[in-house]
Amino acid sequence: MTVISSNLGYPRLGEHREWKHLLEHFWKGQLDAQEFHATAKQLRLANLKKQRALGVDLIPVADNSDYDHVLDTIAAFNVIPQRYGHFDHQLDLSDYYALARGTKTAVASEMTKWFNINYHYIVPEFDDVHFQLLDNRWLRYYQEAKAELGIAGKPVILGPVSFLKLGKRNGQYLDAAAVAELLPQLLPLYEQVFQELAANGVQWVQLDEPTLVQTTEPAEIQPYSDALSALHAAAPTLNVELQTYFDSLDLYEQVVNLPVQAIGLDLVHDHGENLTHLLTDGFPQDKILAAGIIDGHNVWASDLQAKGALVNQLLTVVDDQHLWLQPANSLLHVPITTKNETKADPVLLGGLAFADQKLQELHVLTQVVNDGAASVQAALDTNRANLDALNRSSHRNNPDVRAAEAHLASQTFERQAPFTTRIRLQHARLNLPLLPTTTIGSFPQSREVRAKRAAWRKHKLSDADYQAFLHAETKRWIKLQEDLGLDVLVHGEFERTDMVEYFGQKLTGFYATQNGWVQSYGSRGVRPPVIFGDVAYTQPITVAESVYAQSLTTKPVKGMLTAPLTIINWSFVRDDIPKAQVQNQIALALRQEVLNLEKAGIKIIQVDEPALREGLPLKQRHWQPYLDEAVYSFKITTSGVHNDTQIHTHMCYSNFADIIDTIKALDADVISIETSRSHGEIISAFEDNGYDKEIGLGVYDIHSPRVPSVAEIEANISRALRVIDVHQFWINPDCGLKTRQEPETLASLKNMVAARNAVLARL
Ligand code: GLN
Ligand code: ZN
Repeated sequence: MTVISSNLGYPRLGEHREWKHLLEHFWKGQLDAQEFHATAKQLRLANLKKQRALGVDLIPVADNSDYDHVLDTIAAFNVIPQRYGHFDHQLDLSDYYALARGTKTAVASEMTKWFNINYHYIVPEFDDVHFQLLDNRWLRYYQEAKAELGIAGKPVILGPVSFLKLGKRNGQYLDAAAVAELLPQLLPLYEQVFQELAANGVQWVQLDEPTLVQTTEPAEIQPYSDALSALHAAAPTLNVELQTYFDSLDLYEQVVNLPVQAIGLDLVHDHGENLTHLLTDGFPQDKILAAGIIDGHNVWASDLQAKGALVNQLLTVVDDQHLWLQPANSLLHVPITTKNETKADPVLLGGLAFADQKLQELHVLTQVVNDGAASVQAALDTNRANLDALNRSSHRNNPDVRAAEAHLASQTFERQAPFTTRIRLQHARLNLPLLPTTTIGSFPQSREVRAKRAAWRKHKLSDADYQAFLHAETKRWIKLQEDLGLDVLVHGEFERTDMVEYFGQKLTGFYATQNGWVQSYGSRGVRPPVIFGDVAYTQPITVAESVYAQSLTTKPVKGMLTAPLTIINWSFVRDDIPKAQVQNQIALALRQEVLNLEKAGIKIIQVDEPALREGLPLKQRHWQPYLDEAVYSFKITTSGVHNDTQIHTHMCYSNFADIIDTIKALDADVISIETSRSHGEIISAFEDNGYDKEIGLGVYDIHSPRVPSVAEIEANISRALRVIDVHQFWINPDCGLKTRQEPETLASLKNMVAARNAVLARL
């Protein structure tokens, strides 16, 4: 035996999003379950064949899904909430989708972020659960690959402890006691799955326990250890690859000694810590090291020479019979192939690697070990030449950007005067009433808005006609906002599909992919921009829209920008320089936009940072540098304005108590936070920390079409006013309104203004 390559999971969407369309056609009733299953099978088999052709030795099976792998686990083990009915057999497709999407009588299951990346899973609900194995899907898909293609695959199964920890009971994530209580009930089902796999000739199973990277206390290892011992006892001949990803193992010693045959480690997003453990603490000689050496959540070609050196280091720890080369995590989180990026600059294209290209890299690296570098010299040479070409290209060597960066260290990015002085000047200039009302920026992206944009993109609508349409829409909404009696208006963001993509289109260094889709949740794909070069400001981005809107009204119109960290978190970012450096380049560019808005007479500028919270690193010890960088880039962006220009910021998602110091450090004059679902917690966080700036806690939830009553909004405002001074408080919805319909938006905002007026009348 020699070194082999192994994969952890393959993207579901399809090169041309066939899988997405399949799901959506079924939902619309355009095909029946039988047709669905036939097409889904073709897609599964095509993905397997492709991996084999790309040279993957150990191919994952059952990593496919009809929606989400956590939902599959929920359905297989009957963790089905009672509101969907009672089941004692494998779910049919409609019932399966009911869990994800809800029915007329049962609300959809909650969805949340998968660790620190932009994939969302269905949250298991372990209330009143009666575990039962309804479907050994792992065996089904193993047998299918074996029978149809002769592939002896590696079934991928979410481990029992992570499955429990990712779920909730009574609305709370399971704690250690709840895991200890439920694990003995769940384990027999996993044992049965393992026994059936073993009995049917399966050699290897990949058991994903990603929560292992978040365990820090030795006692926390117990449930994993109990589970693995039980599984080993139940199916002693089945080999288990215990797979971890997204970060390093703090409990390295304990984990590598668990009773399994292979350990999968992330050697890309581990801050170098897993490699240090391997080199200093060693690795059990009877186990296989499944080394995650290729980045599974970014899009760059690897430096194969550097990776080869890494492999050589690993070979000082284990011998070649005990080494597998893998991506660091499932390739689910990257686009499928660069082959369809036909319009990309060849210099960029050479530096990109999507899923298929990553598998090719693994194959080359495996061959280097097994047959010598000479056997793949051409591939190595091409890789070197491609990386050199991109790194030396003008895209990555903009002298103006270099000069501005060099100048950063000698500057400070503080507002001219402290907040107390600024706010007095701002009040005098803006002359707003108490409890000013505003919105977060976007108004409904109606069918018409989307249709016009699509037509314009296809060159079926001229630039001038598109502009005229955008202006008309802004004009209509300025009037609507005035009629509603809002105090600070917005232009509505009709020109933006997406708050990151739009900025990418106007700055240098960004590439918008043609086909770089990744699954965000269910059938929903996103196409994150690729930041591949130096970011520079070449033209005003939003100034014309803001100035036009301001020309229509005497009320102040807020300028509306996306902050650097959010742009970074929602993009694929070049990895040849530190992320923070790219973030600062974006900040320097946006600083010019802020100053241009101010020069054009815009008195309030909102810089949105919705992704600050969700982008926090997995381990708390890495939070501070991340937060410091966020603050620094925000202040580069915003600090250049005069004292009487008011800077706003907006953040999504509740629970800010633990980063309140960062929120203070941003030094924004006004912050709006999405909190309507958890008012109590957030208010006390601000109270306890003596927050002295102005705040708009969203007074109603925009995520549902329901129109909140005046009384309900009034109650929310009154609650906040018990702890926040009335002079500090703004009234706004809790997020942008682009996904809402116009009638409910108008009705809700009308009630919001009425509620504010009622509160004012009582003061
Ligand atoms: N200004 C943006 C909007 O209103 C903010 C969006 C967000 O917070 N995600 O749509
Ligand atoms: Zn928001």
